[in-house]
Amino acid sequence: MIKVVKFGGSSLASAEQFAKVGKIIQADKERRYVVPSAPGKRNSKDTKVTDMLYACYALVEAEEDFRVPLMKIKDRYDTIINGLNLKLSLEEEFRKITENFKNKAGVDYAASRGEYLNGIIMANYLGYEFVDAAEVIFFDKDGIFDADKTNKVLGKRLAKTERAVIPGFYGSMPDGMIRTFSRGGSDITGSIVARAVRASCYENWTDVSGFLVADPRIIDNPQTIKTITYRELRELSYMGAGVLHEDAVFPVRKAGIPINIRNTNAPEDEGTWIVESTCHQSKYTITGIAGKKGFVSVNIDKDMMNAEVGFGRKVLAAFEENAISFEHMPSGIDTMTVFVHQPEFEGKEQAVISAIHRLAQPDSIELEGDLALIAVVGRGMKSTRGTAGRIFSALAHANINVKMIDQGSSELNIIIGVSNADFENAIRAIYDIFVETQL
Ligand code: ASP
Repeated sequence: MIKVVKFGGSSLASAEQFAKVGKIIQADKERRYVVPSAPGKRNSKDTKVTDMLYACYALVEAEEDFRVPLMKIKDRYDTIINGLNLKLSLEEEFRKITENFKNKAGVDYAASRGEYLNGIIMANYLGYEFVDAAEVIFFDKDGIFDADKTNKVLGKRLAKTERAVIPGFYGSMPDGMIRTFSRGGSDITGSIVARAVRASCYENWTDVSGFLVADPRIIDNPQTIKTITYRELRELSYMGAGVLHEDAVFPVRKAGIPINIRNTNAPEDEGTWIVESTCHQSKYTITGIAGKKGFVSVNIDKDMMNAEVGFGRKVLAAFEENAISFEHMPSGIDTMTVFVHQPEFEGKEQAVISAIHRLAQPDSIELEGDLALIAVVGRGMKSTRGTAGRIFSALAHANINVKMIDQGSSELNIIIGVSNADFENAIRAIYDIFVETQL
């Protein structure tokens, strides 16, 4: 069996953290392929190496002197190397980087060096082979990730390599230029590697013991989710932010490989399993609660709307014309509401209103801003009666006015709209009824 292990920046921020990672890898012979991020923050005031690299390259582009900031980055790596007592020098690597910076190798090249150099250190520390991601992870000429080519080349390359370190976050374009994924993209690399080697599991090591049932900034010490399906996670995507890059699920999901979120600082914790499907019942009816503030509802009214063929399409065309994506769209017989992100919508609201009038001739349009959406998600809801009843009586008891309700046809989620001001209390009330009192 093969496990692919990805370690995030905070797991690799210092020699002490590297030592923890080394122990974790050595504790299980199946952990054969390692995907590191760049060194992250050592404390809350620290700067991530990736951010230092972006700042350094901004100087290159402004034709200013970048040597001092680059040496600061080198210092971070040298401190790790010395702390681990490695006989390794990055002198030559930094000479090449300086030269490439002078030749304007590009911002993605600059950012990718964080993972590249950390990969070299990690390979040296573990005695694993170093495989440069530029040789095995590919983007097409438009910068889109090329899954098929990557899977073939990477699979072949790693079949010849018993144990390897493949740096996260980047790959190369057909012309050899380095290209990165979006921020946090080492998670994606880990997933791609897991698919290519047909791993039995993709372990994603970070600084929390998995996903929590609710946001710890709102709920004190929330429970950890033991098992979550990919679909539930997607429905809870407001919550996953910061723990796992959203795009990281696609490669492994295709291959039916589970992801296990683990904590480098508490390796004995089981963490969260993300799986395609499971017969494990979650402990509570719900798997998780997540939400976000800052939505606007666009309420459109027209008599006999239900009988007018194409009305919905015309309304949505008004949003499309203005390049606005919508989040939810509950409707009534003569009404239709479109929920959009307030910051994205605000500058374009009058353009959208006039486009709806032009395209769909509604009777009226009303806007309501400062709304929050809360998703209550759980595969257990399908087989349990009364879930919605419990949610709404909890909200009523907490004196919260519900502005919108939307239950997906999968019965996997219930979306609730409340005003921004009620957001935290609404989440507390729902958590309380399902988790604390376990009714
Ligand atoms: N180092 C990159 C970032 O800070 C990628 C990653 O850590 O996954 O976004």
